Amino acid sequence: MSESKRRPLLKVGLTGGIGSGKSSLARMLQIRGAETIDADAIARTCTDAKGAAMPSIAQIFGPDFLTADGALDRQRMREHVFARPEARQTLEGIVHPLVSAEIGRRTLASSASCLVFDVPLLVESPRWRFQLDLVLVVDCTPETQKRRVQIRSGWDHATTESVMRSQSPRATRLAAADLVVFNDGNDIAELEQSAQWLANRFGL
Ligand code: ATP
Repeated sequence: MSESKRRPLLKVGLTGGIGSGKSSLARMLQIRGAETIDADAIARTCTDAKGAAMPSIAQIFGPDFLTADGALDRQRMREHVFARPEARQTLEGIVHPLVSAEIGRRTLASSASCLVFDVPLLVESPRWRFQLDLVLVVDCTPETQKRRVQIRSGWDHATTESVMRSQSPRATRLAAADLVVFNDGNDIAELEQSAQWLANRFGL
């Protein structure tokens, strides 16, 4: 590596419950010069048709879990692993190392001074913590989460609540945070202000 190539200095894990505003804040930090890495998007790529995880998934779970074009049948797999922790572990054992490897590749290739890892289930996955300099949690009330997801995705409150129950409780997420952005308002300009404050703090 050349002497002049700048190395990432700050690795930030960005997390929050569904509808909290993670993606919005990630975009705002990206505009301000951070490089963002979306762990879920990488996982989806691994399980698309011809994705790196698909040969192992096909071999271990069988063709019933593949769509016609060879991608992961996400709905079917979600239902399968829902009440089968060992199947979930097997799936994660295939996908997580591939995601980690891809994140490692992107981290090495990056010349940004701040990398923001957008990881919805960061608190639920302890393996993440040691790769990060700090954990940034976007927080809001459960009522705000439900309202936003209803507007954005058209989900009813019961559906949103079931996703919320599958995520860490708010208190657990907050306890894992080094920094918290309280994003409970209905004004995106307020979140912009927080993003600017963070950008200054991250040296962007
Ligand atoms: P998910 O986990 O479901 O992907 P997320 O945490 O990434 O959600 P966003 O997609 O950023 O959340 O935000 C959810 C919705 O709420 C979006 O439609 C976004 O525009 C809106 N939103 C977020 N923060 C605010 C705010 N401060 N004011 C108004 N709308 C907001």
